[in-house]
Amino acid sequence: MIDRNVPFFRRLSASDQRELLGHIQVFLAEKRFEGCGGLELTDEICVTIAAQACLLLLHRKTDYFPRLLTILVYPSTYMVEEKRHVEGPVWEEGRMARLGETGRRLGAMVLAWDAVRSGAADPSDGKNVVLHEFAHQLDYENSADDGTPALATREQQLSWREVMRTEFASLRAADETGIPTLLDTYGATNPAEFFAVATEAFFEHPRLLRAHHPRLYAELQSYFQQDPVEYSAERVRTD
Ligand SMILES: [Zn+2]
Repeated sequence: MIDRNVPFFRRLSASDQRELLGHIQVFLAEKRFEGCGGLELTDEICVTIAAQACLLLLHRKTDYFPRLLTILVYPSTYMVEEKRHVEGPVWEEGRMARLGETGRRLGAMVLAWDAVRSGAADPSDGKNVVLHEFAHQLDYENSADDGTPALATREQQLSWREVMRTEFASLRAADETGIPTLLDTYGATNPAEFFAVATEAFFEHPRLLRAHHPRLYAELQSYFQQDPVEYSAERVRTD
């Protein structure tokens, strides 16, 4: 089932596969899943979510997303009433499609099964709602949702702050001027979204990210303790 739904699994080394399977078991035992909007939960759904979430835990000492208790799964992209800031005093109101969401004080995460499945099926399209939402959960581990996860040393914190500030500023500038970017400009919203979007790119477009944002790639590589270039199915020329 993992092989079929989560293609990156086959490309991992044998020891990483073993480690991931161990994490998945703990994850499935610790988290509560709930089917919503008429969705009947299956093992396939839970394992497809768990496998992608646990990729973020490989090689690291981890507490399995301690702030997250419940995962609510809807059959498909769901609509929410939302007020969105456009510019200055201009706000846009209306129904927006959502693939997933989570919050620091929620203890819960909402995911749309169709987005989870398509995100897993194509591990190199740059979009992965599970990696995105679970990156937010990593961000919450040290309590603030500020785009900085728990980092081991003071040097790491300093380096992280410096690199993320620069990269975030350049994504904001690109967003304002309309320059095409590898990183989804949704990451220009705030530093927390920047970390989530950069995490998606790190696992989905590692070669491109390393070529175009080498310092950002190095920070994420040191935090995640892995190099997705080694197992990515991404096919690109970066020269
Ligand atoms: Zn987000």
